Amino acid sequence: MSDLTRKTAAELSELMASGETSSVEITQAHLDRITATDTAVHAFLHVDTDGALAQAADVDKRRAAGEKLGPLAGVPLALKDVLTQDGVPTTAGSRILEGWKPPYDSTVVKRLKAAGIVILGKTNMDEFAMGSSTENSAYGPTHNPWDLARIPGGSGGGSSAAISAYQAPLAIGTDTGGSIRQPAAFTGTVGVKPTYGGTSRYGLIALASSLDTPGPCARTTLDAALLHEVIAGHDPMDSTSIDQPVPPVVEAARRGDVNGLRIGVVKELGGEGYQPGVEARFHEAVELLTKLGAEVVEVSCPHFQYALPAYYLILPSEASSNLAKFDAMRFGLRVGDDGENDAEQVMRLTREAGFGAEVKRRIMLGTHALSSGYYDAYYGQAQKVRTLIARDFTRAYEQVDVLVSPATPTTAFAIGDRVNDPIAMYKNDLCTIPSNLAGNAAASFPVGLADEDGLPVGFHVMAPVMRDDLLYQVGAALESALADQWGGVLMSKAPELEVTR
Ligand code: GLN
Repeated sequence: MSDLTRKTAAELSELMASGETSSVEITQAHLDRITATDTAVHAFLHVDTDGALAQAADVDKRRAAGEKLGPLAGVPLALKDVLTQDGVPTTAGSRILEGWKPPYDSTVVKRLKAAGIVILGKTNMDEFAMGSSTENSAYGPTHNPWDLARIPGGSGGGSSAAISAYQAPLAIGTDTGGSIRQPAAFTGTVGVKPTYGGTSRYGLIALASSLDTPGPCARTTLDAALLHEVIAGHDPMDSTSIDQPVPPVVEAARRGDVNGLRIGVVKELGGEGYQPGVEARFHEAVELLTKLGAEVVEVSCPHFQYALPAYYLILPSEASSNLAKFDAMRFGLRVGDDGENDAEQVMRLTREAGFGAEVKRRIMLGTHALSSGYYDAYYGQAQKVRTLIARDFTRAYEQVDVLVSPATPTTAFAIGDRVNDPIAMYKNDLCTIPSNLAGNAAASFPVGLADEDGLPVGFHVMAPVMRDDLLYQVGAALESALADQWGGVLMSKAPELEVTR
């Protein structure tokens, strides 16, 4: 059997169905790969070897007993450490949650388990999902498998690095301002932010509740769609969950036809500040879509230029309130509880030691923006801008079916490059943030390597609320057209990682 870690989830599924291999074999191959590569990559914060092998054995047993299993049963997955999994350490990349084992499964995890998906472990991330490089993790950075001196993006850098290092064929991320799509772009993989409310937030450690959206990461469009279908759908445990059927994402990923599809290139997302190689690959991909029969026009979304400042008021406001529960009394870390300090001092010492600089920065920003006297000037204004951005989308979707842009202004930058410059870091999310503010669906698909640095470039597609299927239609069309050029998916161009045995 050729290397199981190089197969897609869809291929692994077929191999198990035909009896050529088992979930235990597949899971063991991926655990071995993690052992061999994760000292260099650091995609995982916790590997659940025993739990994963037990899950795999259970799927194999059920298959042998003739039980009808879902398409991803027995396929391994890497889980972002921001989603609770019963009994498995969950830190959200923070010291304040070190050692915490949640007593319940998030809805996403419940659905993964019900589908027979094997959870290999928890992936590294920026602390509380605040960041664009995974350097804000309290447990050290993750390295980009394409170039270990570079960041893999963030906040879900661990999830995207795991799939691009062939440690798992599938991963789960969460996207509040781009944390699925930006790491996907930087690692040459597929990352989808479903419609807000299309996937459940129950059991997701909240960053900004009106923006947070769990979603799939994979090396192919079809794999992402198969995973999307497993985790999406109404959840009564999440009051903002949409009670509608899941869009036909798998069908769209299999069809991959853009003939007659109306595509709008967002005028405001390009030009100055964008790396030439990113723009070149983006425009080639647009041309390719035209050749495949899509109608391409330029569309203006004038308020997108205010998305970043609006986001950096709304997000810290919500985050400062969500993080108030980490008070040393309920979860994880407790500092200074020696009988000398009163409860408030223990809280202060714990939060001082347990939160990193970026988290503190955003708590201060958020509490300031929400304080009386400033509320209308900052938070209120930002919410108005949010409405204007949503209206830009509504108007654009009257003319076109989907909008497109580069996923990020640049390719993956070097570790250490922007970590002390929050504004430069925030600018990474220029293209991805508008969709979070409006709540619509969006994704990044790999479309080639930038000439100047040979690093992956992501193509960003945005679709109306609950039209997540359109993303997959475009992604699959690009993937199959580009496969002729590349002789496979872009990932096949990635350099081999040195392995340690
Ligand atoms: N990079 C953005 C931020 O720092 C997005 C984070 C996210 O999507 N979780 O807020």
